[in-house]
Amino acid sequence: MLTEFHYNTFPQEIIFGAGKLERLGEIVAQYHWSRALVVTTRSQRANGNLARVENALGAKLVANYDATQPHVPQKNVDDATRLAREHNADVLVALGGGSAIGVAKATSYRLQSPIPILAIPTTYAGSEVTPVFGVTRERDGMSGTKRLLRKETVNDPRVAPRVVLYDPQCTLDLPRELTAATGINAFAHCVEAAYSITRNPLSSAAAWYGARRIYHALPRCVENGTDVAARTEMLQGAYLAGVSLSNVAMGLHHGVCHVLGGTLNVPHGLANAIVLPHAIRFNADVCAEQLAQLARVLGIEAEGDEIAAQELAKRVAQWTHQMQLPSRLREVGVRETDLDLVAQLAGQSKMVQNNPKKISDGELRKFLAEIW
Ligand code: NAD
Repeated sequence: MLTEFHYNTFPQEIIFGAGKLERLGEIVAQYHWSRALVVTTRSQRANGNLARVENALGAKLVANYDATQPHVPQKNVDDATRLAREHNADVLVALGGGSAIGVAKATSYRLQSPIPILAIPTTYAGSEVTPVFGVTRERDGMSGTKRLLRKETVNDPRVAPRVVLYDPQCTLDLPRELTAATGINAFAHCVEAAYSITRNPLSSAAAWYGARRIYHALPRCVENGTDVAARTEMLQGAYLAGVSLSNVAMGLHHGVCHVLGGTLNVPHGLANAIVLPHAIRFNADVCAEQLAQLARVLGIEAEGDEIAAQELAKRVAQWTHQMQLPSRLREVGVRETDLDLVAQLAGQSKMVQNNPKKISDGELRKFLAEIW
């Protein structure tokens, strides 16, 4: 049991339920917001979610920014910031996955005084309940000669969305692969929160019960994307996973996934599916108690904590295999020659440095070689 802990919270209104998106206009009015800039991706126009948002906002919609690209490129932030200034927006309505919500957070942060965000998540990434965002920028490489894309993270409670509107109907046509991949991302939040060096009683409880909902619901969502009951349970799991992550330090798994996404453009959810079983295995001895507790909540029984932790790693690997997600870095375009760079950048990551089990540069390179 933890005997000491310390964390910060921030104000957020959470509204959860199928069909709640139709209340958007009323919620915006309650907050006296009148000039909404919608930050989203083109996929939201195709699946009808954007039309629902536009209808609900009516005259309060001043502009749409729908060019969001994965991993929050700096250019997206510059363009969205320009639009927000041009239209004097007083709220950013972020509709989409972690990337659209990340662009909204980075835009709010760039404005002289950050403006509030209302987030409507359509994946399971969980960014909507955290004060963190990453922006991908060109930076000098290790040698100072080659320019590299690097994702830099900011943590500021002022950009945590003020209102989150969870409507499972917005996730019904999330494609099968994205459902599985962003669902594993949510599960990974629970795993890394459960053993985080800064965990607290709330983050642990959210991690256990989030993981349990995800474990039950994700395969059903992958099997049948229009199963509203499964989508509802999964979105609740993703919410709890986001809460578990929101106030604690992540570790090895997330540090490596950030480099794979920011520098090599590996989709975040796929990176999560590949790395997670290995990260659990690596941490299984030092974090045996926390991982065994998580395994028990999922109904995985084993003799001894470390064996339960290893069993959890095995089940996660089987699970991602059943959902037809990749299990090797080579399957998502990473070349063997990229591994030195990934190891070097990951070694500088605060998240990797915050992993509960220390990892040397040599071990990190070996860890990546095993996953490749
Ligand atoms: P994403 O936002 O990049 O979206 C992936 C793809 O899914 C996009 O092409 C998008 O258009 C499409 N999409 C989203 N919802 C859809 C829907 N309902 N139907 C059809 N298509 C849909 O992916 P993501 O995994 O949600 O987010 C990943 C990003 O979020 C990464 O940059 C990651 O680092 C960041 N992230 C941040 C936090 C945080 O706390 N700050 C947490 C998790 C992830």
